[in-house]
Amino acid sequence: MPLCPKCGKEYPWDSVFCPHCRYQLKAVPPPPKVEPTMEVSAKWWLLPICLSIFGGVIAYLANRHRNSKTAKRQLLLGIILVIEIPLVIFAYDYVTGLFSHMFSGMP
Ligand SMILES: [Zn+2]
Repeated sequence: MPLCPKCGKEYPWDSVFCPHCRYQLKAVPPPPKVEPTMEVSAKWWLLPICLSIFGGVIAYLANRHRNSKTAKRQLLLGIILVIEIPLVIFAYDYVTGLFSHMFSGMP
């Protein structure tokens, strides 16, 4: 077993501090890095809902450092909503026939 440079007593290999005099034998391992996850206001969800992809990108850029998980979800929601816009128009047209009449109803 190695000897403590301060008190000269033996200490176990894996110890960071000397068990006899509390002398620091090794550099203290840094604490595990935890990704900062701050609360993201629920108001940010309005952006992708109202502006679809544009709002999703804005919400993502604004919140990615605060909470990358939520920011990615907001971006994803914006992408989903932008895909949904033509589907909504198609569904609306299917139900009402409004656009079909507009374009093909001319004599
Ligand atoms: Zn010691």
